[in-house]
Amino acid sequence: MESIENALYLVATPIGNLADISYRAVHILNSVDLIAAEDTRTSSVLLGHYNIKTTTQAYHSHNIVTQTSKLVDKLKSGMSVALISDAGTPGISDPAYQLVNACIENQIRVIPIPGAAAFISALIASGLQTQSFVFEGFLPHKKGRQSKILALKEEERTIVLYESPHRIHKTLQQLAESFGDRRCVLARELTKKFEEFIHGTLTELAERFQTQSVKGELVLLVEGNIKRKNKIRENKYKNDIE
Ligand code: SAM
Repeated sequence: MESIENALYLVATPIGNLADISYRAVHILNSVDLIAAEDTRTSSVLLGHYNIKTTTQAYHSHNIVTQTSKLVDKLKSGMSVALISDAGTPGISDPAYQLVNACIENQIRVIPIPGAAAFISALIASGLQTQSFVFEGFLPHKKGRQSKILALKEEERTIVLYESPHRIHKTLQQLAESFGDRRCVLARELTKKFEEFIHGTLTELAERFQTQSVKGELVLLVEGNIKRKNKIRENKYKNDIE
């Protein structure tokens, strides 16, 4: 296996099933000087499972400013650091961006170690168009929410969102009101025991989850604005033959 460099390694970890980690990721986590983890207690399950004894340190949204500069100092002194999040790929709706930029500014090498990301697994099995898509992460909870939804209404690519169980009904309802009825898929508990893909339209799913609760981790995928896409194509065809 590769020798460890004085670098920041961005290591993807499983999104549920502990077997979904690469040999390379385990090697890196075993070999670096320090693992910066979003939640050291959460990550201790994964690290324990693979018998990884590397020292961990917390790196999360509440200590991001102080910890970014401390980690940069450690990297500048020659250490190797792996950054992991609670699940999936660091930087995808998880802290990493600031540390990555601080490393780039300080000429510290940043090395990605690829692996699971919930939105990719959800998208590929959704049956929705995968050729082009837009990943929005979590919609804003309050400020900017409505304008984001309005902007997404015209989006022709498949729209991929992260959502929590207690907000999913509200989100489905607001999207149905704004977009009109459109095909969508709710991907739940990916790679875990109760993995499920719920297919329907925005209205159907909004109605279903008005009375029924949904548990676990969720990815919501909505078909792009196909009518708009077809209209643009029709107009182009018209212009071409005129
Ligand atoms: N970094 C992660 C990634 O690469 O996907 C995302 C972290 S974000 C804080 C957590 C959100 O990701 C969850 O609220 C859910 O929307 C989605 N997610 C994470 N794991 C999931 C899973 N196993 N099944 C479905 N969605 C998941």
